[in-house]
Amino acid sequence: MVDDARPAARLTVLSGPSGVGKDSVIELIRARSPWVWLSVSVTTRPMRDYEVDGVHYYFVNRSQFERMIAAGELLEWAEFAGNMYGTPRGAVQGRLRAGQPVLLKIDLQGARQVRAAMPGAQLVFLAPPSVEELRRRLIGRGTDDEETIRRRLAHADEELAAEPEFDHTIVNDYVERAAEELVGLLGSPILTPARPAKD
Ligand code: 5GP
Repeated sequence: MVDDARPAARLTVLSGPSGVGKDSVIELIRARSPWVWLSVSVTTRPMRDYEVDGVHYYFVNRSQFERMIAAGELLEWAEFAGNMYGTPRGAVQGRLRAGQPVLLKIDLQGARQVRAAMPGAQLVFLAPPSVEELRRRLIGRGTDDEETIRRRLAHADEELAAEPEFDHTIVNDYVERAAEELVGLLGSPILTPARPAKD
């Protein structure tokens, strides 16, 4: 299952405009590539009906989120469409130390913060086949109210313009193909020693 042709485990950031299909790509990787560790972000956004607390996100209120920032528990965080999102630092670092490929699905501001904090991270941009297709997907997915859609559309142009900052671009034409291309970039788990290393 582990492909020798893949490079060694590392931190990869998946970003791209809202509505491009990051969640679908992540769900395929969750189902088919269990050796990849998917970071679980903390958010103040309301839970969608298909989401599970602790799997897709940790759902918290704003004061809990602010406490985590103050305690330095977040590797990066950002406000997006009126809600706060952040990556818990400890879990990411623990997995990387254990040699497991780590994948973060975060917005552009978060991707920039990760690049600054961890220059070895690779940044992958998930792009839509076209801008028209992106708008169609964003309006058609039916999980957000009108105001949220409006904010996400307004943000999309800024996100699309950031593509040159990324190490790789994957076009989400077919989700299965895009997920496969991404898995190819993630790296293989490093085999863990028989006895845990002391650090
Ligand atoms: P959604 O509300 O659709 O799940 O996510 C909205 C945006 O927030 C997406 O672009 C998603 O990648 C981003 N996001 C999710 N988790 C995090 C996080 O931990 N940090 C940052 N900076 N953005 C995140």
